[in-house]
This record gives sequence, structure tokens and C-alpha cells, in this order.
Amino acid sequence: MTTLTFDSLNPATGTVVASHPKHDAEAVREAVARAQEAAEWWEGLGHAGRRRRLLDYKAVVTRELRQLAALVHEETGKPVADATLEIVLAITHIDWAARNARKVLGPRRVSPGMVGANLSATLEYLPLGVVGVIGPWNYPVFTPMGSIAYALAAGNAVVFKPSEFTPGVGVRLAELFAEAVPERPVFQTVTGLGETGAALARDPRVKKIAFTGSTATAKRVMAACAENLTPMVAECGGKDAFIVDADADVEAAADACLWGALSNAGQTCVGVERVYVVDAVYEPFMRALSERAATVKAGEHYGPITMPGQLDIIKRHIDDATKSGRTVAGGPDSVRPPYVDPVIVEDVPEDSPAVREETFGPTITVRRTKDAQEALELANDTAYGLAGTVFSGNRRRAMALARAMRTGMASVNSVISFASVASLPFGGTGDSGFGRIHGADGLREFARAKAIARQRFPVPGMRLTSFSRQPDELERLIRLVTFLHGRRKR
Ligand code: NDP
Repeated sequence: MTTLTFDSLNPATGTVVASHPKHDAEAVREAVARAQEAAEWWEGLGHAGRRRRLLDYKAVVTRELRQLAALVHEETGKPVADATLEIVLAITHIDWAARNARKVLGPRRVSPGMVGANLSATLEYLPLGVVGVIGPWNYPVFTPMGSIAYALAAGNAVVFKPSEFTPGVGVRLAELFAEAVPERPVFQTVTGLGETGAALARDPRVKKIAFTGSTATAKRVMAACAENLTPMVAECGGKDAFIVDADADVEAAADACLWGALSNAGQTCVGVERVYVVDAVYEPFMRALSERAATVKAGEHYGPITMPGQLDIIKRHIDDATKSGRTVAGGPDSVRPPYVDPVIVEDVPEDSPAVREETFGPTITVRRTKDAQEALELANDTAYGLAGTVFSGNRRRAMALARAMRTGMASVNSVISFASVASLPFGGTGDSGFGRIHGADGLREFARAKAIARQRFPVPGMRLTSFSRQPDELERLIRLVTFLHGRRKR
């Protein structure tokens, strides 16, 4: 029975946006039971039926764009324009997932190889059933939709637990889906605090958990998933680096760096937190960066810190960085709750919290390096591995640096641009998690590979999987394998 409620607050004003139920374990179980039934119906629609309905959902979300952006603004405090951008990106992902599911997941013949020449081999990707999505508050539409749209397109039903800071957005996303698909509760939202998400992760009928949030919570969710061997996608935090190479366009680099670090008040998993600048362009880059930073204001260009507890972490990192490094913009006084003005500090020791831990605020640390190789080594010296950026005038070197970054994603001469390309997979390595959302990998993440080998005819004299096999049949196999695979390439 769900009896208690909790309030979602406007972080800028502290006023109550709305009250939502704290769904307990029983309410979550009921939602999962409804989802199980709905999943069968949804799977039965086939790719064409789901594609049509998902495109309808996309149209409903698109027509609701302004109202949804206003709600995101209310619950997160971010400017309406940024909320709009986030929703537009989510719409492109719903579109891509709907249009590409059959091509990526549908049945196809694959080569059986010479040894299996008498077989017909078929591969397809089938739905898992019910997928549980646990989301964060920083991009309450774009981030969970990276799992929800792809899980739905792959033929699953979804039970979504949004962050306690953005429950209203989560509820609205499911309501809009019900407008497009009124027949069955294929996409439901349950609201509550951490326990609601934990109940979802522990339910054995949930066949996959797509979690986005902090690394610490991911570990707890993974422990809950372990009870039932429930697989999981973990999209966790990052400490993304930005490399400015010797021949980079410093004005463009400074502009992109600032936006990557400060937009959404720095509350972006793939936001810029560490900057490594090659000596040759250090001075002009820093000039461009500080000039631009002086024109950016919290409360005007970006919103408040959504989660009050995060202010303490941001303050601790700024205090520590400004003690050991040289302040270029802002400082400890930049924290004026619920806002934080831009802070740029250079020469902060690489072992300090501001360089090692995720800050999730509008702060940047900058370090001068002798060359791009040193910048790359410092960029890779982190437990995280989500994304990174390279600015360089040399395309080959830029691509080599981007490839060598130990991250799941990279942008070259642009910032966070991979997130807008629906066909590119999104996800990290190390403490940034595992698994992928978006693109073909994102669709396969929410499906199980089904492999079928059908014998078309028996091969005379080659009864290999039979107890009546004769020694000469094995001999023939050895001769065939030696012919096919036994020669060394010179
Ligand atoms: P949290 O880890 O605090 O929470 C994430 C979600 O997990 C919330 O819905 C939360 O619910 C829920 N939760 C909390 N405890 C449990 C539990 N024991 N079992 C199940 N669910 C639980 O992260 P934040 O919401 O603070 O989000 C910020 C973090 O997310 C940052 O580290 C950021 O880098 C990362 N992130 C990663 C992205 C990526 O794609 N890699 C994208 C966006 C953010 P509740 O809020 O109710 O406590």
C-alpha cells in the first residue's frame, strides 16, 4: 500500500512544485506485474506496430515540448531554453530508436562457415520482458529517454523510477506515452526515494536495470541486481578532460570549454571538469577563457544547483583548489546557494579532490602541459572514463588523441557533440560504468541474442555429433580443418 507522499521542490525558490506518492515495494511489485502483461502485448505487436506507436509518442512529446520544458525548468531550475534543447535531443532519440529497431534487431541470416556449410544460421534479438529504468535529475528527459526509448523499441515494457528531485517530469513522460499508446501500460512511472528504486532492482521479474546516477549508488543497485542475476547498464559519473593542442583555434576552444563546463551549472555527467592546455597556446587560451567567463552569470546563463547536498561537495572542491592553485575566475565566494558562479583555477595539484573527484558544478581546473602527449597521459590518469574533448588544428592528431582517450566517447573541435548523434553509442568505462545506451548498441543492450542453426541436409560421411561416428569421419574433419586453418600466413 502506498500511503506516504513527498514534495518536489523548485530549487531556485524552494517552493513546492507538486506532491508525489512514495511507492513502496508492494506498489512497485504491482507495477511490474502490470508491465509483465503489457510486455507480452507490446512484443506481439512486432517491429512495425511498435514503430508506429513510438513515432506517435514522439509526436505527442514534440507537441508538448513547451509545457514539458517549463516543468523541467521548475523541477531542476535550468533555463527553459536548455530544457527545450534537452527535450529536442530526446525526441531525436525516440525517432532513431523507432526507425532502426527492426534493422538492428530483426532476424537475419549469418554465414554458417565452411564446417557448418549444411546449416542455415539465423540471428535475431528478442525482447527481455520488463526493463527497470532508474534515472537522475540533471537531464530528467534526455538521460532516462536514452534507456526508455531504446528499451521500448526493442520490444520491452518499462517501469521508470525518476530521481526524487524530478518526479513530475518522470510522471509526465509516462502520461504522454499513454496518450499515444492507451491500450496497455507499456511504460509506467513509479515515484519515491531510493527505496523505490531498490525495490525495482530487487524484483526478479525485472529482466534488466538501466541505471543512471552516481558510481556509489550504481554499486548498491548492482548488489541488489546480483540477488537475481539481473543484468544492468550503469551510466555513472565522470571527470571529463578537455585537451587544447598546440595548433588549436583557441577562441573556439575557449568558447566550447566554457559551455561544456558551465552549462546546466556543470551538472552534466559528460561536462568538462579538467582542462589540459599545451604550452604553446596556454596564454592566449587562458585570456580567451577568462574574458568569456567574466560574461557568464549563474541565475542568468545557467540555473541553480538542483540538489542542495551537492553544494557542500562543490564548496569543498573550490576551497581546496583555491588554496593550492591560482584562481583565474571566481573563488570560495562564488558559492551563494542555490547558485554557484563560474570558478576557474589553474595549477591545482593532480592529486587534489577538485582534480580527482566528480565536482558536478560550474568549476574548471586548468593545467599547462609541455605537449599533447602529456595532456593525454594526465587526461587518462583517472578512475573515471566517460567522455573527453580534443581541440586541434591537425585532424589526424586530433583523431589519434580522441581514440587514445580511455573513455567511451570523445568530441573533436566541438563539445559533447556525440550525445546529439543518435546512431553513436553512449556510455563509459571504469568508474563511469558499463553497457551502452543510444545507437545500435543501445538497442541490443535491451535485447537477448537468439541464435538458431537449422540443418538443411546431413553431410554424408560426417556424422560428427552422433555416437555412431566412425574414426574415418573424424579423420576427414581433421583433414578439412587442417586445410582451412592449418597454414601459417607469411
Ligand atoms: P544518484 O546516484 O544519487 O541517484 C540516481 C538514481 O538512483 C535516483 O533515481 C535515485 O533515487 C536512485 N537511487 C538512490 N539510491 C538507490 C538505491 N539504493 N537503489 C536503487 N535506486 C537508488 O545520482 P543523482 O541523481 O545524484 O545523479 C547524479 C549522478 O548521475 C552524477 O554522478 C552524474 O555524473 C551521473 N550521471 C551520469 C550520466 C551518464 O549517462 N553516464 C548522465 C547523467 C548523470 P533518489 O533520487 O530518489 O534518491
